[in-house]
Amino acid sequence: MSKHRDITCQLLVIGAGMAGMAASLFAARRGIDTVQVGLGGTIPFASGLLDLLGVYPVPAGQILTDPWEGMARLRRVSPAHPYTRIGNQDMQAAWRQCLGFLAEAGQPYVSQAERNMQVITPVGTVKTTYAVPHTMAAADDALVRRPPCLLVDFAGLKGFSARQIAATLGASWPDLRAVRLAVPRMQGELQPERLGRFLENGEHCRQIAATIHRRLDGARAVGLPAVVGVHRTRPNFEAMQQILGVPLFEIPTLLPSVPGLRLRETFEQHLPRLGVRAWYQHRVTAVEARRANEFRIGIGRDADGFRARTQAVILATGRFFGKGLHADRTAIRETLFDLPVDQPPQRDEWHHKDLLHPAGHAINRAGLAVDDCFRPVDVNGRRVYARLFAAGSILAHQDWVREKSGSGLAIGSAYAAVRACERLLG
Ligand SMILES: Cc1cc2nc3c(=O)[nH]c(=O)nc-3n(C[C@H](O)[C@H](O)[C@H](O)COP(=O)(O)OP(=O)(O)OC[C@H]3O[C@@H](n4cnc5c(N)ncnc54)[C@H](O)[C@@H]3O)c2cc1C
Repeated sequence: MSKHRDITCQLLVIGAGMAGMAASLFAARRGIDTVQVGLGGTIPFASGLLDLLGVYPVPAGQILTDPWEGMARLRRVSPAHPYTRIGNQDMQAAWRQCLGFLAEAGQPYVSQAERNMQVITPVGTVKTTYAVPHTMAAADDALVRRPPCLLVDFAGLKGFSARQIAATLGASWPDLRAVRLAVPRMQGELQPERLGRFLENGEHCRQIAATIHRRLDGARAVGLPAVVGVHRTRPNFEAMQQILGVPLFEIPTLLPSVPGLRLRETFEQHLPRLGVRAWYQHRVTAVEARRANEFRIGIGRDADGFRARTQAVILATGRFFGKGLHADRTAIRETLFDLPVDQPPQRDEWHHKDLLHPAGHAINRAGLAVDDCFRPVDVNGRRVYARLFAAGSILAHQDWVREKSGSGLAIGSAYAAVRACERLLG
């Protein structure tokens, strides 16, 4: 027998990726009685950078300095793209609320509002994104000014080589040096998370900063892998910055990343404080639509199941990786409500013959088509349920990987769905 009693709520958010977290945040801020259910989403597998729109048009691979100008162009030619249903005002309000929440929770992000920012990647290329953890903000300026700079890595840290980054960037950044440091008491192969938890300790960070300081040799900026703590990042980073006396920036590592973990753990700890009743590591096992305004949702973990009665649902279950969509031999299906999935009519149209074709593959644009309230619709454009909404990467007519729009899509569509939901709840 379940140890949990059945529960009731106004809104049930399914998913704990960026879209589910953002939807729960926006709903809690509007005073909607919200339950969230979701297994760990893709957040730790992401870099922790928050993209809005980095590339448009996709086939031309044009990197955008101004994401808002790119969105205006996108809306003119792609009426079905989710961004066409979200106005700039709502998008800006969504980002303000999301970044405000992260700052209050002790993991501030920096964005330039009107333009994209740039960071260095672990392979030494430059990535365009919209908002970066405060620990990466100084890279944007360093990439413009290119001062003498010291890149640091740590012996044993998997998949991160300061020397390789310096070699790749060196042609356009002459005074870039690399140094490898041993981490006291840490031996063997190091995953970013293990090092991140070790550097939760402020004393460890101060020791490392003092060692780097002795190696500065005229460097006017320092870059190091993104491992400065998981929860105590801000004070530890500031202490290191003070010891060094020159701008310091983190560089994303391979995945799963510490900035991704910081994001996930921040949401998981702080959303319940805003009143969200969260069931992380639980999954929705059954759904049943009763009358126009009631869903019965089965929630479970192992044999431990219970039911929720809710007036509305936001489906933020992601794509194939998140398990919101499933592809069998003939078709792509939505896994919980068996909603109509907008997809090419034939399986052999899923992929372009050229694997690396710049326009991408049709399968990546398959997903749930929605109305202006972000409610899934059928092939005739009729909404399926009056109070079922969808948000995030499960939506059709977008290709967030190529557009570099993952977080913007999640945050913007979650905001629009919650707004519509609030109106309908009355
Ligand atoms: C490798 C990688 C790198 C990325 N890099 C970036 C980046 O640099 N910048 C950026 O902005 N974005 C990046 N993203 C994308 C970013 O994480 C997106 O915001 C995200 O993919 C959209 O998330 P989502 O919430 O729609 O889906 P997901 O993150 O896939 O989450 C889906 C959620 O639904 C849950 N779920 C599914 N079925 C059930 C069920 N039956 N019951 C309960 N829960 C269920 C899953 O467990 C999961 O919690 C990256 C993603 C990946 C995978």
